[in-house]
Amino acid sequence: MRTNRRTTQKPDFPARTAPRTGSLDELDAVIATCRACPRLVAWREEAARVKRRAFRDWEYWARPVPGFGPSDAPLTVVGLAPAAHGGNRTGRIFTGDPSGDALYAALYDIGLASQPTATHRGDGLGLCRVRITVPVHCAPPDNRPTTTERDTCRPWLARELELLRPTLRAIVVLGAFAWQALLPVLAEAGWQTPRPRPAFGHGAEVMLTHAGDGRPLHLIGGYHPSQRNMSTRTLTPAMLRDVLRRGAEAGGLLALDPQVAADGAGGARTEPGYGRLGARARRGRCPLPREEDAHCPAFGVRRSAFGVRGSGFGVRSSVRR
Ligand code: SF4
Repeated sequence: MRTNRRTTQKPDFPARTAPRTGSLDELDAVIATCRACPRLVAWREEAARVKRRAFRDWEYWARPVPGFGPSDAPLTVVGLAPAAHGGNRTGRIFTGDPSGDALYAALYDIGLASQPTATHRGDGLGLCRVRITVPVHCAPPDNRPTTTERDTCRPWLARELELLRPTLRAIVVLGAFAWQALLPVLAEAGWQTPRPRPAFGHGAEVMLTHAGDGRPLHLIGGYHPSQRNMSTRTLTPAMLRDVLRRGAEAGGLLALDPQVAADGAGGARTEPGYGRLGARARRGRCPLPREEDAHCPAFGVRRSAFGVRGSGFGVRSSVRR
């Protein structure tokens, strides 16, 4: 059982460790070893020990849950933290809980995920040019990290965004906690943020400019797809799709070639604006334009745009455009 694993970490971990990671793969691997927050370490391991009845046969991940998605994503989605019996169980963010069910269904609908469900690592899910991460990588009691825990975890987020920066164009921020966690990170990274800091709201949009190279970065706020928000219809599937689609637009992901638009015109989904990418995805075809093929390591002949070799569309190896 992984939960008894102990490592010795210096008091300045992760603040000094995160900036030294050279790639997202390395960052993800190191994050998973972090034990910097005693309360969260205890909670994530307690959840794995007690378990929920429905998951009693699972061996919980019970470690920090890294981000998920390709390292060259123009769009990032920032949530809150893993759920005790969701990501903390499965080891993949937003996987195995109702929030993830809502999020991945919406991403699938707009063509950025290879399937609408996320149940476990190895379920074949892949993301197309979107990365999902959180400001706190361990499951917190009552889904409420303290400000100290948020700040302790901040170097991981800062480094992740720094590594994504060459391609990053837009961030969809799910919930006020993520909004408040993210703005200082971006300010420290050189993004000029308005004063006073912009308020969070569903549909709130802010465009930041980088002080160094003048590049823009779009922030789009949206309600978190928590079970509570979804069950009270504070957030509906359509609202979630809207905000993600807006992020995809701001990230340049919907500016596809005319062939994509033509393909999508006859797609299964008829809602304006959602048909093009999603219809293409449902036919097992990458939603990206032809010239983007080299962008994805698993793409090429196999037509998977999702950065997970052999998963998602990739299993349909005979599909060709
Ligand atoms: S919340 Fe972040 S900083 Fe705290 S133990 Fe988990 S990964 Fe480490």
